[in-house]
Amino acid sequence: MTAAALTPDDEPEDEPGDEAGDEPRPGVTRSVTVRVPAKVNLALSVGPLRPDGYHDLATVFHAVGLFDEVYATEADTLSLTCNGEGAAEVPLDETNLAWRAAVLLAETTGRRAAVRLHLAKGIPVAGGMAGGSADAAGALVACDALWGTGLSRDELHALAARLGSDVPFALYGGTAIGTGRGEQIAPVLARGEFHWVFAFAHEGLSTPAVFRELDRLRAAAGEEAPAPGVDEELLRALRAGDSRLLGAALHNDLTQAATSLRPDLRATLQAGRDAGAIGTLLSGSGPTCAFLAADASGGAAVAEALSAAPSVRAVRRALGPAAGAYVL
Ligand code: ATP
Repeated sequence: MTAAALTPDDEPEDEPGDEAGDEPRPGVTRSVTVRVPAKVNLALSVGPLRPDGYHDLATVFHAVGLFDEVYATEADTLSLTCNGEGAAEVPLDETNLAWRAAVLLAETTGRRAAVRLHLAKGIPVAGGMAGGSADAAGALVACDALWGTGLSRDELHALAARLGSDVPFALYGGTAIGTGRGEQIAPVLARGEFHWVFAFAHEGLSTPAVFRELDRLRAAAGEEAPAPGVDEELLRALRAGDSRLLGAALHNDLTQAATSLRPDLRATLQAGRDAGAIGTLLSGSGPTCAFLAADASGGAAVAEALSAAPSVRAVRRALGPAAGAYVL
């Protein structure tokens, strides 16, 4: 919750920051801004492929201080613009998760989806940090406030789960266990704050492609997928706020599949280890790599070393846990 100083400062210059939620006033265009965090999965345990095409998961989500901001401004029609990190790769039509969130909320509450949405991206696109899901959660909260729909947190959660497996967690933030497809959330007791360094890759990685590669590797090895579960050591480390224990307990079942598709990620992970990270982790389905540092100066050393790695496009530092989607 203390990562505000690390937020991106790429707000669009001409976006309004008017107050919202008050009675409509003639001649005043109302606007809401919502800030929503990226996530890493401190643990990601992937079970067998289900008949519906998803995998059963057990994961520990952790929101970190890398943010997207969603601006929702009253308008006559639905429109979407975007700037910031990876904006050129973000679709600006009905395939965008923020757009779909606005439409779903409008349909559910019996109104026209009339809103001008703008996304200021700080979360890498197709980076395994759930940026699209964050935008969906941000758009739900922003449109809910702009339109005064008055939905409960549970009702917003149900809509979020329909939009995607990672969307509900982006509403809550903090640190939480996710089960099912990841959409069933239970908060985890976590103490203290953790110093993270993130290495962005030159190109994104498709989440479905990484899961397919995991299935292929398991079939080739004749392995049965185990029932997914969360390691008790990791939960103990979080309860104690012990970053060294946490670093040793980080685990992601998708690492081998992602590095099989993108061998250069091995060099990125090794560069962070060599620079003294106390934990290394593929973030979600990658290709972003996450490194835990013992403290701020450890984080600075890891960030500096990673900046020189050829496999790394950009480096960011952030604290975790961060708050979920909130109106600024
Ligand atoms: P996942 O949640 O699947 O792990 P990710 O974090 O790896 O996703 P996202 O940034 O969410 O990746 O983007 C995945 C794809 O979703 C992009 O390639 C893009 O085509 C599409 N997309 C839809 N809406 C958005 C959005 N608001 N921001 C970014 N990408 C979006």
